[in-house]
Amino acid sequence: MKNKIFRGTPASPSIAIGKSFVYSPKQMVLSSMVEKKDITEELALFEKARNMALKQLRNLKVELKKASDPVSARLIDVQMLFLQDPLFLNSVEKRIRTGKESAEEAIVSFSESLEKDFKDIPNSYIAERYLDVKDIVERLLKNLKEEEPDGELGSHGDIVIAESFTASSVLQMSKAGVGGLIAEKGGRTSHFAILAEALNISAVVGANGVTEEVESGDEVIVDGISGVIVINPDEDTKRRFERKKEETNAIQKKFLEQKDLPATTIDGYSVDISANIELPIELPFIKKFGAKGVGLLRTEFLFLTSEDVPDEKEQYDFYLKVAESAYPDYVIMRTLDLGGDKVFKTKVQEENPFLGWRGVRFTLANEKIFEDQLRAMLKASAKGNVRILIPMVSQLEEIMRVKDMVEDIKIKLKKEDVAYDENIEIGAMVEIPSVPLMADFFSEVVDFFSIGTNDLTQYTLAVDRGNKNISSLFDQLDPSVIALMEMTVRKAHHKHKWVGICGDVAADVVAIPILIGMEMDELSLPPSFIPQIKNIIRGLSLKECKDLLEKAEKKRSASEVREFLKGEMLNRFPSLKNILVEVEND
Ligand code: PEP
Ligand code: MG
Repeated sequence: MKNKIFRGTPASPSIAIGKSFVYSPKQMVLSSMVEKKDITEELALFEKARNMALKQLRNLKVELKKASDPVSARLIDVQMLFLQDPLFLNSVEKRIRTGKESAEEAIVSFSESLEKDFKDIPNSYIAERYLDVKDIVERLLKNLKEEEPDGELGSHGDIVIAESFTASSVLQMSKAGVGGLIAEKGGRTSHFAILAEALNISAVVGANGVTEEVESGDEVIVDGISGVIVINPDEDTKRRFERKKEETNAIQKKFLEQKDLPATTIDGYSVDISANIELPIELPFIKKFGAKGVGLLRTEFLFLTSEDVPDEKEQYDFYLKVAESAYPDYVIMRTLDLGGDKVFKTKVQEENPFLGWRGVRFTLANEKIFEDQLRAMLKASAKGNVRILIPMVSQLEEIMRVKDMVEDIKIKLKKEDVAYDENIEIGAMVEIPSVPLMADFFSEVVDFFSIGTNDLTQYTLAVDRGNKNISSLFDQLDPSVIALMEMTVRKAHHKHKWVGICGDVAADVVAIPILIGMEMDELSLPPSFIPQIKNIIRGLSLKECKDLLEKAEKKRSASEVREFLKGEMLNRFPSLKNILVEVEND
């Protein structure tokens, strides 16, 4: 059938057209005839497979460095560290020593128990971290069976399609020069998706059912800008996408060349554009895409990539590295945003985790964890470019308690003669409607606000942000969410406090004029979107943005707001058709 269209989440903003290669990695199942061998022999087999894996990764790292690819090389470090992690080693070896499990079984059961832990986590970002572990486990199993570490993964120009990818498979694909990838699973923040973006491979993820509809050799278009996939396009469609590809390549090149120009409107209103990051591999993206520092450093990965809560030193090393990478620009470090059910070792079951022990509610109740994290952040603030952001705030009392803790820690650090920033700013995330509604009072106790529209939309509309059944009700441009954003800015500015946005709406091109119209002080977004968003801001005036905001506020639904803004933006920026119009007709 010609022109079969699928939609997924755009994950790496470019277009590729090529022959499909459907990749089905061997399932991670036990060979049916696992012979039980003696414990010493199984331990030796495990050790051999592990050493082989370390050697393979070392070689891969050398190759990547030769190809001047420091981003991916750093990812290999993470995998090598995992292979040497005492918790991982002890856990597998303990299983073998029981005499009941072979090396292969021990690795698989370790991986399965971890998978269970990760699958219970409602936050898709965190659940996706499991893919990194799976990557290493697959490598170990292949080594045990003495198979080639990676099977064929497509060749030059191919579009590789699979249920999911591992980070090392993406590295291998990059070496082979594949043009694009499509995954049935995963989100924009999956490691493999971040890597695809870093390595300039077009990518669409979360494309449910696609592997059943495509065969190796079919021609496929993958549009990593809109998330559209076309299988066996007709000539007309192919021509349109080829044109879109050429146009977007030229435009993106221009945006990148201008990435360091400030985000200042025609009439002189300036807004800081900073980056949302979490992983060490994303650090080079701050400068690469022209961000003014980091507007949101999520810290959950530190806690979920180790079996134990990371200590102050481990956290400090990472925070310092981020602060140094961004210097002299600032880094807004968000304290842990996990729920009780999401921290290893404290397996609290809750009926409504999103309404439960999450974010600051959890950290305030787990003082040691919170104190270590705040100490690490304060110590990393010595050069003065660190700010602290508190997630899931719903009441004034929470901020007061955090501030008391920070003051106590400062006193201790002073006594220990450890440097920190005495004037470090402390801000609240605006994710729960009680904060905008009470922003007059909050403005008296915080230094700044950062609006998290992903959760603000979820908690305003009572629509679970990850539930596909009701995803049509989830729109960050819902009039109620716009009203709450505006209310926050108005009340905060009245008390001379600044406001940023770190939710996904900051990367939504049609939303930009209304965010500027509100006089937002900062927008923080995924790095690769930054050059384009800056370009759009430079083409608008504050005056027209205020006018567009006023008109948008008269609309009665998210779709009316969107339709209106889309029309206005297409008039002003015709090249946006490549993003806002899926496939243009001739
Ligand atoms: C948000 O809620 O908009 C936000 C940025 O935080 P997270 O997506 O990490 O919950
Ligand atoms: Mg949030």
